[in-house]
Amino acid sequence: MSSVFDGQPAAPGIAIGPLVRLAQGRSVERAAGTAEQERAALTDAIEAAVADLAALAEQAGGDAADILEFQIAMLEDDALRDPALSAIAAGTAADAAWAETMAVQVAEYEAAEDAYFRARAADLRDLGERVLRRLLGTTDDDTFPPGAVVLAHDLTPSRFLAADWRGGGIALAAGSKASHVAMLARARGVPMVVGLGAIDADGHARAALDGATGRLWLSPGADDETMLATLSAEALEAGRAAAGLLHRPAATAGGQRILVQINVADPSDLEGLDPALCDGIGLTRTELLFPAGGGLPDEGTQYEVYRRIVVWADGRPVTIRTLDAGGDKPIAGLTVDGESNPFLGVRGVRLSLARPEVLAVQLRALARAAVHGTLKIMVPMVTVPEELEAVRALLDAALSDLAGRGVPAARPALGMMVEVPAAALAIERFEAAFFSIGSNDLTQYVTASARDIDAVAALADVRNPAVLRLIAEVAAHGERIGREVSLCGDAAGDPAIVPALLKAGLTSLSMAPNTVAAVKTAIARYE
Ligand code: PEP
Ligand code: MG
Repeated sequence: MSSVFDGQPAAPGIAIGPLVRLAQGRSVERAAGTAEQERAALTDAIEAAVADLAALAEQAGGDAADILEFQIAMLEDDALRDPALSAIAAGTAADAAWAETMAVQVAEYEAAEDAYFRARAADLRDLGERVLRRLLGTTDDDTFPPGAVVLAHDLTPSRFLAADWRGGGIALAAGSKASHVAMLARARGVPMVVGLGAIDADGHARAALDGATGRLWLSPGADDETMLATLSAEALEAGRAAAGLLHRPAATAGGQRILVQINVADPSDLEGLDPALCDGIGLTRTELLFPAGGGLPDEGTQYEVYRRIVVWADGRPVTIRTLDAGGDKPIAGLTVDGESNPFLGVRGVRLSLARPEVLAVQLRALARAAVHGTLKIMVPMVTVPEELEAVRALLDAALSDLAGRGVPAARPALGMMVEVPAAALAIERFEAAFFSIGSNDLTQYVTASARDIDAVAALADVRNPAVLRLIAEVAAHGERIGREVSLCGDAAGDPAIVPALLKAGLTSLSMAPNTVAAVKTAIARYE
């Protein structure tokens, strides 16, 4: 009999196929040796796991390689293995010592208050299982039948990357939309539902899932399968039609030109991407650009990355945001630890002004890269005009410093994010060259619904009339004074929300590159 379960949507798309249940954990017993032998066995297994990950990273490239390199760094950290080595010295077998150590660490990450750290629990579990498989001599060969719907407790990024998901989908009892594996599933178009809770799948051989609604069917009925197959065919057709619009300038049905820009988090996002798909880059999140940890690198390294992005854009404007660390994007050693509410704390420009030596380096690197095209600087989390003016003064100082040393530089336009209600409500106070609405933060602050708490996700709706009214007022202000107002939050990439944004008067949107085709289609349909 058919059973239906509702979880959280994590990656859109429909999958219908054989049900495969993924086994997890330790299923093989192993004979233990002396403490010395056990220590060597664990160290060898860790080294082998690092080598496996490095090979996988080289094969995968791009975003996946970054995730795997992050895992390698975790695995090479002595702090991770030390408790297991101590247990071995006290007489525990290597596999048991490792499994117990990892269970404690995973539990700590799962209990973290910060959603970012909770989402990293899956990475840690992944590492734990990989080393364990090396110790036990078991395999991670995940060969599913084509189009399988895979049901698992949670899925690790490397297990995701090792499998062929074409036509298939993923249903997870645990998991989170913010996890690396969900990000990979979205980037690769693999439908995924998370947070389904424990599911008794005994006696079911077939399943279907709709990643857009978060629903899973076990032994779907013929009617369900027909309905889902129709939805899937429609989505395929819409995708084909949208591909035709991809490289054309966007305009509404009535002929109003709308600027479509893209958001960049990693320079590898741009690899293989034709700049003709967009009117420029509306947001570069520099806090995500340098994942090596520890914040921004030196001026030369930053300059080189900014220059690459500007050169890619081939004359189109490139908006680069100054560091927006803090909130749900902590950077060890830079952001303030232990704030009671980091979203209301020292984040964005507040942090940059508290650490002007860090901002000064970034501004010099940006002014140098501005020589190579149209680079615009955008300041996040501006609350009062004085913050923007303080950044302007630091930019002036950066330019005179570079000029004094004869280093080529140009003055970028200085604009601001509009994501704090105090700025949106009194936008005429701010002397910015351009404005970009950060709908993610603006919505959470206006609706008092944290963007990282699933239980209030329905309240954090950008279509709340209060949020739309603020967006409309900022757009009208830009129109009055002749300055660009864009919107670069997630809402800009959601074709279901785009009509409401256009109705509010926006004529410029910035979104993830893989949503451009669908958004251009929604714009073309807008009367
Ligand atoms: C936003 O708040 O909408 C935004 C684009 O910034 P971030 O998501 O990086 O906070
Ligand atoms: Mg923001």
